[in-house]
Amino acid sequence: VGKRTPFIAGNWKMNLDHLQAVAFTQKLAWSLKDAKHDPADAEVAVFPPFTDIRSVQTLIAADNLPIAYGAQDVSAHDSGAYTGEVSGAFLAKLECAYVIIGHSERRTLHGETDADVNAKVLAAHRHGIVPVLCVGETAEDLEAHGPSAVPVAQLRAALENVEGAKGLVIAYEPVWAIGSGQAATPQQAEQVCEALRGVLRDLFGDEVAGETRVLYGGSVKAANIASFLREPNVDGALVGGASLDIDEFSSIVRFKK
Ligand code: PEP
Repeated sequence: VGKRTPFIAGNWKMNLDHLQAVAFTQKLAWSLKDAKHDPADAEVAVFPPFTDIRSVQTLIAADNLPIAYGAQDVSAHDSGAYTGEVSGAFLAKLECAYVIIGHSERRTLHGETDADVNAKVLAAHRHGIVPVLCVGETAEDLEAHGPSAVPVAQLRAALENVEGAKGLVIAYEPVWAIGSGQAATPQQAEQVCEALRGVLRDLFGDEVAGETRVLYGGSVKAANIASFLREPNVDGALVGGASLDIDEFSSIVRFKK
């Protein structure tokens, strides 16, 4: 049910200042042009640090580049006395289509709970921004609970009182696969992505479940991207390290099924 254009998302994390971000985005655009990239084959998105977003927006808008962009986090609050936070209203003003929420680095290094993640998903929706909602288990979780239990529980908690029709992208990112060079197998990714789609079906029905893209993330590179995208429930990738290498990221975007 429904058409799910593959989604290739580069999470730059805390890398590339605004000048480097502009140079990188320009190179990415040239590479897409050289490859005669068809946006129907893959939607390409970059997730720069907050301080880069205005510059990236200006470049993309000026040349009408076929690259989407978003932020790596958003405040649960809309405005006020929240020092250091960035509101969804500000991201919407910068025409961010997407925002990453619940990345494992936010959960583990910054203590974000499932309730925080839920509040951020609701905040993104208040401002018309599509969350790229990350879930995933640690190696210990995998050992103790099997492959799907923790990601499924995280997804259910993150989606409390959320309206699926407002748009979601889900990213399954096993913590043990992030930055480790040890990607999940395509079969492992498929098994969990299928279970996550089952949660979407249960909460929102067949139409939303059929239209929502579920990504895999964790040590994705040019050499393994096609194997993930061959799986029926894997609709793209959230790419960390390899999204900072222009040749590697360009090859990932040009994946062939
Ligand atoms: C990530 O942090 O979202 C990620 C998938 O990182 P990497 O590709 O470097 O494993």
